Amino acid sequence: GSENGSARLSSGDKLIGGLLIPGFDEGSCLSRYRSSLYRRTSTHKPSLYLLSMLRDYEALHRRCGPHTKPYDEAVEQLKSGNSVSLTECKYVVWMSYSGLGNKILTLASAFLYALLTNRVLLVDGGKDMADLFCEPFPEKSWLLPNDFPLVDQFGNFDSKSPNCHGNMLKMNTLNTSIESVPSYLYLHLAHDYDDHDKLFFCDQEQALLDRVPWLILKTDNYFVPSLFLIPSFEHKLSNLFPQKDTVFHHLGRYLFHPSNHVWGLITRYYEAYLASADERIGIQVRVFESEPGPFQHVMDQILGCTLKEKLLPEVDKEGSSSVPLERPRVKAVLMTSLSSGYYEQLRTLYWEYPTKTGDVITVYQPSYEMYQQTEKKTHNRKAWAEIYLLSLSDVLVTSAWSTFGYVAQGLSGSKPWILYKAENMTTPNPPCRRAMSMEPCFHAPPFYDCKAKKGIDTGKVVPHVRHCEDMSWGLKLV
Ligand code: GDP
Repeated sequence: GSENGSARLSSGDKLIGGLLIPGFDEGSCLSRYRSSLYRRTSTHKPSLYLLSMLRDYEALHRRCGPHTKPYDEAVEQLKSGNSVSLTECKYVVWMSYSGLGNKILTLASAFLYALLTNRVLLVDGGKDMADLFCEPFPEKSWLLPNDFPLVDQFGNFDSKSPNCHGNMLKMNTLNTSIESVPSYLYLHLAHDYDDHDKLFFCDQEQALLDRVPWLILKTDNYFVPSLFLIPSFEHKLSNLFPQKDTVFHHLGRYLFHPSNHVWGLITRYYEAYLASADERIGIQVRVFESEPGPFQHVMDQILGCTLKEKLLPEVDKEGSSSVPLERPRVKAVLMTSLSSGYYEQLRTLYWEYPTKTGDVITVYQPSYEMYQQTEKKTHNRKAWAEIYLLSLSDVLVTSAWSTFGYVAQGLSGSKPWILYKAENMTTPNPPCRRAMSMEPCFHAPPFYDCKAKKGIDTGKVVPHVRHCEDMSWGLKLV
């Protein structure tokens, strides 16, 4: 019972294995130093090299962040349009794009890219991002100032823009002589990017990009696995992450601290419904159909998976079970879904019948928003709170293809059971499979050998970059 909850509340690895530094104002971001009260201490320790790179990054961000002298100079140069002299600091600007799960994954990808290339990460998407997340870096904001010269053009940036890196390669308009590198390039790494955009993942292009002060990045993909296939990054990456499947786990816990609003949603829900349970099971149901559901084949799949893998106990429909235990074990199921149907059915099932083990199953779902409403503040707050609550579970069941689930599994540090994507409205067999690693899947990776200049299977180049369980053409770190 409640001792269990409060035991956690005193465990405290406040600085999460050294990922965080002390000294931030606690009141303006309660979650930063309190997450350890709700989570088990991670069994995955960040490397000392990662910790020292983070400290170096923090110093860089302090020196080059918004409205510092180097920032102002780099902005002036951007306005003047030429890039004859190198700027003191270089930047990568992340553009807000796609659903919340995607955003969190791409921000982590952009941050790793910034670490690898000594760039400062700045985040577009102002109010919305500030409403959901605390500032991760000390002293200087990570938010791109509103008066940044290109913000008015962000909306028009796409693969055909004149400053799009891939487009310039295609049109042969990218002058690569030292004197004339452009002051900024737009990197189109969204799901619909083409072969020229994908040359981003080649060393030759990285050498060129290295000289461009401002990179503006738009992506809805976790592109980290392909960074591991770029030779010039190899050495640094293997020092940063000796355990390769912990990239998002560490960077996610370092970067993403829920704002106080969202922290309130998380902690109130946790204390009210989850803290006193003996075990917490998160089930994330994401159905990519045009109808909202609920669907019988999905319900069958949820039950098929959780019973077969013994994550939940069978019910005794004959009623032959022995008398209820005096103090039964309580398993709390936290469901998340846009629909309320699965939660209602599961809750009813465990109310109407006893379990064969004598355990008592409680079932909760914080919201059922029916459909995705990325433009709405309260909707996004709830989505972030639910992702975070899922990540506080002891056991996770997630849905194939969903970045929402990837974020939860990465933050939690556990390998989920993945509910396979149903085809033709039929429950897949087997209904779920344990993930190889807790890393997110890169849904649209390049299949190109930059050296040989021909197509290859990039899932077969190194043992730690493989095809995903839930998407055969995707890539993930294991
Ligand atoms: P993905 O589409 O599953 O990869 O995840 P994203 O987070 O990128 O986009 C889906 C969006 O739909 C979320 O950000 C939410 O806005 C909404 N959404 C999907 N599933 C849920 C859910 O279980 N709970 C809530 N609150 N929102 C959800």
